[in-house]
Amino acid sequence: MTKARIIIIGTGFAGIAAAVRLKQEGEQDLIILERKGDVGGVWRDNHYPGCACDVESHLYSFSFAPNPQWSRVFSPQPEIHSYLQDCSEKFGLKQHIRFHHEVKRMDWQEDLGEWRIETNQSIFFAQIVIGAFGALSNPSIPKLEGMESFRGEIFHSAEWPKDFQAQGKRIAVIGTGASAIQFIPEIQPEADALHVFQRTPPWVVPRLDGPIPEEKKESFNRSQLLQKMERLKIYVQREVRVIAFRNPKWMKTMESIARHHLHKAVKDPDLREQLTPDYRIGCKRILLSNSYYPALAQANVEVNTSGIAKVTEDAVIDSSGRTIAVDSIIFGTGFQVTELPFSKYIYGREGRTLKEEWQGSPKAYMGTTVSGFPNLFLLQGPNTGLGHSSVIVMIEAQVEHILKTLKHMKKQKLKTIEPRPDAQERFIKETNQLMEGTVWTSGGCNSWYLDETGRNSTLWPSYTFSFKRKAAKLKRNDYAGSKGINVK
Ligand code: NAP
Repeated sequence: MTKARIIIIGTGFAGIAAAVRLKQEGEQDLIILERKGDVGGVWRDNHYPGCACDVESHLYSFSFAPNPQWSRVFSPQPEIHSYLQDCSEKFGLKQHIRFHHEVKRMDWQEDLGEWRIETNQSIFFAQIVIGAFGALSNPSIPKLEGMESFRGEIFHSAEWPKDFQAQGKRIAVIGTGASAIQFIPEIQPEADALHVFQRTPPWVVPRLDGPIPEEKKESFNRSQLLQKMERLKIYVQREVRVIAFRNPKWMKTMESIARHHLHKAVKDPDLREQLTPDYRIGCKRILLSNSYYPALAQANVEVNTSGIAKVTEDAVIDSSGRTIAVDSIIFGTGFQVTELPFSKYIYGREGRTLKEEWQGSPKAYMGTTVSGFPNLFLLQGPNTGLGHSSVIVMIEAQVEHILKTLKHMKKQKLKTIEPRPDAQERFIKETNQLMEGTVWTSGGCNSWYLDETGRNSTLWPSYTFSFKRKAAKLKRNDYAGSKGINVK
């Protein structure tokens, strides 16, 4: 059994941000639990060919750890993973991390005022838990009839086998989301045949990528101010887009850009029709690629929109009854976003899990704290995702909120803290009101942003600066605390 004042779970962007800032504030009694053997979260796990960020690297990085060396506007996965490894090294996090510790269950111990955390290796106790589980960390794989009988390679894009060879193979790709549009152009030239099973066409716009010139890197090296200005420029450009996301008719200009992009690359009108979305752009995540449409236009690619009826030992049978012989099946089917797997094993004060508490619609005050789950802070919790900018901005805002709350606890000698139910309700109500009329709820699509009740519990529906402002200003009356022994 091990005790720590604070336990962070996860070493992706969120876990690292929390750990660094806590250390900078002088916190030493800190353990970080990581289920795998390295840091990096999704940027460690997703190493499929073509994996890269679709937010500019100078914004998709920590404000407290600028990297003048980003090689491209949108850096590739290995570089982002290295960046996170470097941050963990540079800020002295390694000594705090317990690798290969997967959390299996967490119980709030009311008598102790602590969380009991059961991992695959041992038990931990902590007064404060920061859950940085990641919103996109558990692959979602549809249960297709007969898939267990398939004798070829079958895997999800987040579990890409390092030795997978596409050369000469007949491959079925299921899904056409953010991941699939990155790996399809990489495997298409190698594959013998590529059958792309598309349920809903995504909107795809040009990717304005390119290497960052050496002189520019040098200037960032010399002047942090220049680099900060670069970050600010990208930040402002992305914030401005919120106006259109909140007023969907303004998205039409972007739709024209996407249509033109499609027309330029795909000459076959039937294929073009298959690839044209019937919902407003922005309703689902807008995808960036210059190579996706050209890849789909190649002779060895078929876009299949009839759906999959079943899988046999060597083929996929589509819903029209056609048997398509394949050697490999790759799922680009996304992640368990609104199900939030951790919610099933976190038991709060009443002995109920977060999942039971949420009833299909995750809710948290400031997307971070949940009434009835004292001293628990969720990073990238409900309504803190973004459809328009870098989630790192939101993570950092949440971390500052946590630091403020912890300071308040210390000052008031509080043993526990949690949001008052009415404050949490008010936050949800305001968030729902902000969401009304946005493209994410009125754009005519069925997206993974929506939970099983139809509520968008994934995204923050407005400007990130409005969230930052709310998060930075701790409304003490919104929190309820109890006094006790555990305060240092
Ligand atoms: P995704 O965007 O959720 O796409 C999943 C795809 O699989 C969609 O086309 C979906 O179709 C399809 N699908 C899901 N279940 C299916 C089923 N049962 N049968 C047939 N098709 C099915 O997933 P992702 O591509 O893995 O990306 C997830 C998120 O990761 C992104 O939205 C983004 O936030 C993040 N990501 C970011 C980057 C980056 O560059 N920063 C790169 C990759 C991923 P429907 O559209 O019909 O649901």
